[in-house]
Amino acid sequence: MPIYEFQCRQCDSRFETLLRSSDVATCPECSSEDLKKLISAHAVGSSRPDTPCGSAPCSPAPMCGMGGCGSG
Ligand SMILES: [Zn+2]
Repeated sequence: MPIYEFQCRQCDSRFETLLRSSDVATCPECSSEDLKKLISAHAVGSSRPDTPCGSAPCSPAPMCGMGGCGSG
């Protein structure tokens, strides 16, 4: 289940909550539904380090160590 982060517009508290697709989040502090959805820190910053192989199309780094890259 995805975790979403919200900021309450009423009391300004921030919190994370698990939400199913049709659930409505409420503030744990004041029970307000007037929330601002924040982008989770987990979703951004997925910068992938360069593969040691460099040129080959083995984009997930773990593939490089499995002989799938550079030998074929
Ligand atoms: Zn609140």
